[in-house]
Amino acid sequence: MFEAFRGTTFPSILLSGAGSSSKLQSQIESLRVGPGPVVFFLDPFVANANILASIWVAGPFTFVVDVGQEPSTGYVDKLVSEIQDLCQRSLPSLMVAIGGGITMDLAKAVSVCLTNSQNSSKMQGWDKPTKSGIIKIAVPTISGTGAEASRTAVLTNTQSGLKLGINSDFTKFDCVILDADLISTVPTNLFFFNAMDAYLHAVEVLEGHYRNSFSDFFAKSARQILEDIFDSQDPRSVSNHEHLMMASYLAGLALTSSFVGLVHPLSAAIGVEYKIPHSLANLLALRGLKTHYPNTHDRIFGWADKLDVTVPSLGEVWNAETDASKLYSEMVKHELPVRNALGQDWQTDFTFEKFQLLLKEM
Ligand code: NAD
Ligand code: ZN
Repeated sequence: MFEAFRGTTFPSILLSGAGSSSKLQSQIESLRVGPGPVVFFLDPFVANANILASIWVAGPFTFVVDVGQEPSTGYVDKLVSEIQDLCQRSLPSLMVAIGGGITMDLAKAVSVCLTNSQNSSKMQGWDKPTKSGIIKIAVPTISGTGAEASRTAVLTNTQSGLKLGINSDFTKFDCVILDADLISTVPTNLFFFNAMDAYLHAVEVLEGHYRNSFSDFFAKSARQILEDIFDSQDPRSVSNHEHLMMASYLAGLALTSSFVGLVHPLSAAIGVEYKIPHSLANLLALRGLKTHYPNTHDRIFGWADKLDVTVPSLGEVWNAETDASKLYSEMVKHELPVRNALGQDWQTDFTFEKFQLLLKEM
């Protein structure tokens, strides 16, 4: 299943630096293809705060997406069908996502479903789309997931409940604009949880079995940048914001050119079960996986203390109906990252009995 060689894809255009979103309009004009409309996906914060409002116009082609829950196949299919109805069998000339991981993943998923004329559940898995998606631009307004860099659009399958990506080069953004000014309004707890998502992408790649020189390089660079940010006096300085956007991007490339480890599969299982957002679910998972990632655990929870950020425990959301065996099977369905972390014989090592012990730590 693992290939000896793994590649990654890059956007044609990567703009960075505070103020760089002033170039969005000119990028739209130069990248759009055909007479179709430009479709905007906006995070509700972006819409309410009128961020970049001189560029998007409130109207039928501007969608303020639902970030109340992580993207599902049902929601993606609904957006696809609304856009198809509006475009009357033609296609948008371009899509722009302005927001966080949810907004960006929705744009990625919708873009390939539109061109491949398929329901999103059919696109989940590895390299299912056969046609390029709609040309698209990402403008992240919260940083850490690496959705702006990765070839994955993470969706919860409405039928099976399983969280699984559309993993395809065709989901990748053609242009990414990393404007550090846009993340200045992110509350510190969210800022921290999401930055730690990037840190975990880097660490899990570096502690995996299936490494390569490119993924190592991206991951080591991201890890170092993030350690410098959170060891510094003021992680929220303008220059640290710029560095965080770079680290998020590099860690996204690292995970795209390798695999994550144990934190993400466990995070996906508890995230779906308890409806906990991805970046926070990672930290709950990391607590349980302390013996697997001891240094990372201590470092991250040390930074949380320093920033006065509280990470709730699983006990606070746990309920009597929770079926540990269901959580275990949800976790190990993500076999590639589990195998990356533990090797080919992971089944003998990572038993349900061991899983129950780690749940107690969370
Ligand atoms: P998100 O998109 O929901 O954003 C989090 C919150 O921040 C939202 O409430 C949003 O309104 C708010 N927000 C956004 N910008 C803001 C700003 N500038 N100021 C204040 N608030 C702002 O969450 P996220 O953590 O960015 O993304 C999570 C999603 O990303 C999940 O669905 C997860 O599965 C996915 N993900 C994808 C990848 C990938 O490679 N594609 C990797 C990791 C996670
Ligand atoms: Zn992640």
